[in-house]
Amino acid sequence: MAKALLLLSGGLDSTLAGKMLLDLGCAVSAVNFTSPFCRCTPKNFAAGCSAAASAAQKLGLPIKVFAKGEDYLAVVKKPPHGWGSGVNPCIDCRIFTFKRAKEEMEKTGADFIATGEVLGQRPMSQKRHPLLLIEREAGLSGKIVRPLSAQLLPPSDAEKSGVIDREKLLAISGRSRQTQIALADEWSIADYPCPAGGCLLTDQEFAARFRELLSATPDFDLNDARLLSLGRQFRLPSGAKAVVGRNEDECGRLEKIRRPASDARGGDWVGNFTDISAPTVLLRDGREEDLPLAAGLGLYHSKAETGNFVAAGDGGKEITVAPRRVSEEEVERWRIQRTINN
Ligand code: SF4
Repeated sequence: MAKALLLLSGGLDSTLAGKMLLDLGCAVSAVNFTSPFCRCTPKNFAAGCSAAASAAQKLGLPIKVFAKGEDYLAVVKKPPHGWGSGVNPCIDCRIFTFKRAKEEMEKTGADFIATGEVLGQRPMSQKRHPLLLIEREAGLSGKIVRPLSAQLLPPSDAEKSGVIDREKLLAISGRSRQTQIALADEWSIADYPCPAGGCLLTDQEFAARFRELLSATPDFDLNDARLLSLGRQFRLPSGAKAVVGRNEDECGRLEKIRRPASDARGGDWVGNFTDISAPTVLLRDGREEDLPLAAGLGLYHSKAETGNFVAAGDGGKEITVAPRRVSEEEVERWRIQRTINN
């Protein structure tokens, strides 16, 4: 019996690929890769994608989750094959993922890796040339089976050797999902909640913040990267960053994401107003002298004229700060990226 290792995102295409392989009699196990840039699992990306877990359960597949970490961030910062329309390094992202999957394939003795990729579905990584380039650079030439588009691609080793029947694989191409939706209906596959487009790196506003951070702090880490999707963000004249929560959820998340005092770059300050309703403000890479401005930005985003701002940082030290009034012009000058919700 052929053993397949399926890259399962939880989306329709990889679910269909899994179903096809099972119908062909393969023993299939699944792997799911998460990253801090996945919109599906922003809060606890190491726990895995719930859509993938659900798809695996429906198909009856064992699944292993791999969280992409600092080594992935290094690829995103400087991808040899470049970024797409945002800061999405799709080709290098796929190479990175396949290299990790290859290790798992070898460890588990799988015959090949399978994906739900569809030829021509995505502009950067799913055209014929990049598909084959990715395969080659990941050291997996001939080892990847794409059941949905296999008949349009060179035969994999598993198809050549007859381990799986190429005639039973499909020839889907392009961005239309009609064929896949028809197959899902036919095979009673429902609830596939994680379609293409769940990656923050393709988001233009996120990309602008990412580029700004790369220029200001080239050695930034995953914690900095996670902070990028939160709040209104400002670069103060001192070079510090202030982040002002946009709602209760974000204010809570700013408290949780704070960098501890033990961090080599120093801890964050997180401040709240004690007497008015105003957002939480996080100050990163800043000093005590920056707190009045940070507090001023919080006050600017409230309805109050003044307030009592208490900031906690540097090993539990608490100080009370009088907010400095900031003008609209200053707010706009320091704003890193205007976002839709600002
Ligand atoms: S869209 Fe994001 S997750 Fe998907 S290949 Fe591109 S960089 Fe990777």
